[in-house]
Amino acid sequence: MPKTTASTATRPRVLTGDTPTGQLHLGHYVGSVRRRVELQASHECFFLLANMHAFTTRADRPQEIRRDTLEIVRDYLAMGIDPEQCSIFIQTEIPAIAELTYLFAMLLPFNRVMRNPTLKDEIQVKGLGETYSFGFPLYAVGQTADILAFRATSVPVGEDQVPHIELTREVARRFNQVYCGVSDQAEDAEHVALGGIFPVPHADVGPIGRLVGTDGKNKMSKSLGNAIFVTDDLKTIRKKIGGLFTGRQTMTEPGDISNALFDYVRAFIPDRARVEELERRYAAGDNIGDGHIKVEVAEAIDALLAPMRERRARYEGRDDRILEILRAGCTRANAVCEETLSLAKEAAGLRFFDRELRYR
Ligand code: ATP
Ligand code: MG
Repeated sequence: MPKTTASTATRPRVLTGDTPTGQLHLGHYVGSVRRRVELQASHECFFLLANMHAFTTRADRPQEIRRDTLEIVRDYLAMGIDPEQCSIFIQTEIPAIAELTYLFAMLLPFNRVMRNPTLKDEIQVKGLGETYSFGFPLYAVGQTADILAFRATSVPVGEDQVPHIELTREVARRFNQVYCGVSDQAEDAEHVALGGIFPVPHADVGPIGRLVGTDGKNKMSKSLGNAIFVTDDLKTIRKKIGGLFTGRQTMTEPGDISNALFDYVRAFIPDRARVEELERRYAAGDNIGDGHIKVEVAEAIDALLAPMRERRARYEGRDDRILEILRAGCTRANAVCEETLSLAKEAAGLRFFDRELRYR
């Protein structure tokens, strides 16, 4: 049997994605999607719809997951992701990911997976108690396979994902050490040069790794009712921003520019000089009211979302077009992941026969 040799990607590879548990919001945009839009021209980008992982909390509602999977593609297109420059694909259409998940699960101590702080948080925030499925912690292992199946070097994500990327880095190192003869003294950056299959990827967390929700407290999140969505119009945005609690009473009271309202000012008012002016006047209590700032923030968000809403509208009722984009993305994703799987199976003594995958 001919030895599988890795094809050399001409551009550095990026993998990231979203769980179809609802529509995308501003947190996704500033935390990850905006970075993807920047990277798509210069990097080989793969964006994953983690529909299997959505079953961790909604196994009884598969039709909702299916609907949200398509809706998120609309949000991607709205936010500026260009399917001509990148690949958007569905996790469950990539069998190599499931197979690598099984293999990687063998390399990770069970207790190590359960120590992941993001999993612990989710158990609490989503009220999973003691009743979560076996598949729930397995999704963290699955996420290592999502990334490593692409041999991605960089993963643009929000802060909450860093523990998952750390787990992924551990799997990459361990696999390379156990099956590819890479020394446990090797630097992360040397793994591939030393014969490892998997680059040790890094989390690409941008300047806003965690956008606070309109409750002013928690991370903006689909599941917490504190999110501003791409489809929200100015009136809705005004109402949501208007509800942000700051505790400040008067226009002349010195304000705290580390509050949630100012997180929004810095995140969404594009004019730097104006941001600095608002910060200065707010801190000094220089005759500037929270209400005024909220209106300005709402308008800035609306200006950002208006072209997105317009782009999104073009894909309304166009499931045929969305499916076409996904089919092309899945085909490209499988080409890469089948090659990775083949390399990994060979290294681990699991490669007996070769196969070809194609969609009908
Ligand atoms: P869920 O409640 O279903 O976990 P979520 O809102 O956390 O949903 P995910 O699909 O888990 O969304 O996350 C997709 C990407 O968006 C990840 O990279 C995540 O870090 C990022 N992200 C999500 N919410 C925020 C936020 N409020 N600020 C910054 N980044 C975020
Ligand atoms: Mg999440």
